[in-house]
Amino acid sequence: MTPEKQLSIIIPSYNEQDNIHRTFHRIHTVLQEKGIPFEIIFVDDGSKDATYLRIQELSSKYPEAKGISFSRNFGKESAIFAGLEAASGACCLIMDCDLQHPPAVIPDMYRLWEEGYEVVEGVKSSRGKENPFHTLCAKSFYHIISKATGIDMSKASDFKLLDRKAVEALLILPERTPFFRALSSWVGFKTATLPFEVEERTIGTSKWSVWSLTKYAIRNITSFSGAPMQLVTLLGWIMFGALIILGIQSLYRYFSGTAQEGFTTVILLQLLIGSALMISLGIIGHYISRIYDEIKARPRYIISKRCGC
Ligand code: UDP
Ligand code: MG
Repeated sequence: MTPEKQLSIIIPSYNEQDNIHRTFHRIHTVLQEKGIPFEIIFVDDGSKDATYLRIQELSSKYPEAKGISFSRNFGKESAIFAGLEAASGACCLIMDCDLQHPPAVIPDMYRLWEEGYEVVEGVKSSRGKENPFHTLCAKSFYHIISKATGIDMSKASDFKLLDRKAVEALLILPERTPFFRALSSWVGFKTATLPFEVEERTIGTSKWSVWSLTKYAIRNITSFSGAPMQLVTLLGWIMFGALIILGIQSLYRYFSGTAQEGFTTVILLQLLIGSALMISLGIIGHYISRIYDEIKARPRYIISKRCGC
């Protein structure tokens, strides 16, 4: 094995017991055929099924298979960062365990890295099959995050290959709640993109519910952008505009002797001001809780078991 050419593949896995063997063998076949030296690090994100057992089975048979197991579910981003920390390769590739990121594309990504690209991003040529509500939410989320980062994220995925330099740059970032997909672009470096078709998940189910996706979106938008806080200022100015217009109207009525029936205006204004204040406080509160989380500086994850690494 030539470590200076080695590819480390990081696979966050949560309740994927039926996918571990299948995914490993698919990647193994593709990479061996192309003669690419590799290791595969499965990061068991606190699974409740036999995921880690399956990883151990592989690790005892194949030196390329390695595993880390978290003490509980810490989330995919934490699993990605744990994998990056454990990886020893000259470049690292992140992919899903359910084969929605096609292994057949890996050699092409590796070739681009050999040609000198330091970040190779897999971009979705289509979003695969998902319900229209999910597509709409994803589109809105990526619209906001693209505006915040100045990078078009609408087709971004976690399927990425990173040179050691980019990995080191990511690992020194002290954030507790990193958003991998955006940070890997934020670090810069010479980047190439490679389109891929999202495969259907054939085994197991998606780990995302509408609620968990909403939390994920809010967390990542606030971790990357202060724009929602600006919304508070914007709301303030809009209210100020309304105040001037209504103020002029009220004064006009007062002086022309037609004042009195302002009841509707008062109620509407009260509701408007009340809701604007509450929304604003909510946004500020969310950022304060994020600061609180970062200040506590707890580790991103806790490892309970390891095999092969
Ligand atoms: N995953 C994880 N921790 C979690 C949720 C998901 O490590 O808390 C992993 C999961 O095992 C899979 C990848 O992240 O390898 C993508 O998850 P999933 O297929 O459920 O997401 P989707 O493809 O539906 O976006
Ligand atoms: Mg999936």
